[in-house]
Amino acid sequence: MVLNEKQILNGISTLIITRPIECKHMAKTKIIGPFSQLLTMDTIPLKGSVNDSQLEIIPNGGVVVSEGIIVKTGNFDQLCSEFRDLEIDRIEKDMVGMPGMIDPHTHICWAGSRAKDYSLRLAGKSYLEIAQSGGGIGDTVAKTRAASTTELEAMLTQRATNHLKNGITTIEVKSGYCLNAEGEIKMLEVIRNVNQKLLVDLISTCLAAHIKPADFEGSPSDYLKIVVNELLPEVMKRKLSKRVDIYIDEGAFTKDEARIYLNTAKKMGFDLAIHGEQFTASGVSLACELGALSVDHLELVHDHEINLLAGSTVIPVVLPGASLGLGCQFAPARKLLDTGCSLAIGSDWNPGSAPMGDLLMQTAILGIFEKMTIAESLAGITFRAAAALGLTDRGILRIGLLADIIGFPTSDYREILYNQGSLKPSMVWKRGEKVSE
Ligand SMILES: [Zn+2]
Repeated sequence: MVLNEKQILNGISTLIITRPIECKHMAKTKIIGPFSQLLTMDTIPLKGSVNDSQLEIIPNGGVVVSEGIIVKTGNFDQLCSEFRDLEIDRIEKDMVGMPGMIDPHTHICWAGSRAKDYSLRLAGKSYLEIAQSGGGIGDTVAKTRAASTTELEAMLTQRATNHLKNGITTIEVKSGYCLNAEGEIKMLEVIRNVNQKLLVDLISTCLAAHIKPADFEGSPSDYLKIVVNELLPEVMKRKLSKRVDIYIDEGAFTKDEARIYLNTAKKMGFDLAIHGEQFTASGVSLACELGALSVDHLELVHDHEINLLAGSTVIPVVLPGASLGLGCQFAPARKLLDTGCSLAIGSDWNPGSAPMGDLLMQTAILGIFEKMTIAESLAGITFRAAAALGLTDRGILRIGLLADIIGFPTSDYREILYNQGSLKPSMVWKRGEKVSE
């Protein structure tokens, strides 16, 4: 039977009704293909180790897309005869298709540069010495506070556009570089404005609990009280973010301070994320106790915490870009997977510890050091990363999910990680709409 556009829309209307769709640009009904190989990332579990033999690969694959949603995947020629009247977004060369990548952890709304810090780090200076010379996070806070909304929007637009061009179709973006109510609202408004302007989805997170700002005179818990009383109600009321994150570590906040803060945020209706186990153990047990969506960093996670994670719904997010930026060890990704944890990978793109911002390259490097299979690496930047953000509508090429698709100019999916990040997607579709070629 040949379906017309209206019949297809009727067919997916139930899917649309059950799931709110944001009013972003959505492409009309069409078939995209043929892909030499189409990696759907379907049928892979959310947790635990995965072999490459578990990857679903459709040779000569195609995707039928309507109103930004996947209507069907399958053999391209069969799709063309089944949906005979549809427009075809035809691919004329070798192309491996997969779901758009998802970066579940970034700080890409910032002003200024920390190149000087990096040069000092290369010269062997310590964190304290760099901060004393006027660098460190204090420098970024001063510059981000001083930047206008227009300036911040321009900088965020450039970074988000670059990420989208490289195949990242959903990007989490944290505030946390103003550290006062007015400035944090400014950052969250900037993220909202850029999200509305660009095709790429920006998922904002309130990270006012990054550190206690240097110009705040009270204790860390006094600062958190102000965030809870003055900032979070405004963020909730104005729908600027549904997510709250806190940095638990030496020099940031303690586990006990974080527990009070996150409990209150949870009661207000926020989803929770935690920066934990970067330099000291503390965040994992709290993330499990409070049912956070994710705990991120984990460079120094211990066996006991890995076991806790394996038995929980919390998604561990590892950040190889921070290890590369600081010259530190990677999080034990192999051990996490073998113990039965899920594993998402974020770029942590930020001006201080992770300036590179190349998610694919970082994933490839982590993979070879930690001996992760291709399936595990790609799962970590697709549907497992979506789970870290609480998103169930993307990260897999499956009927009813968003038509976020990327194409690599090769006929063999193994080339993607083999090229260690230098082979970029040459085609990107966001909600079925072609972004670049
Ligand atoms: Zn971070």
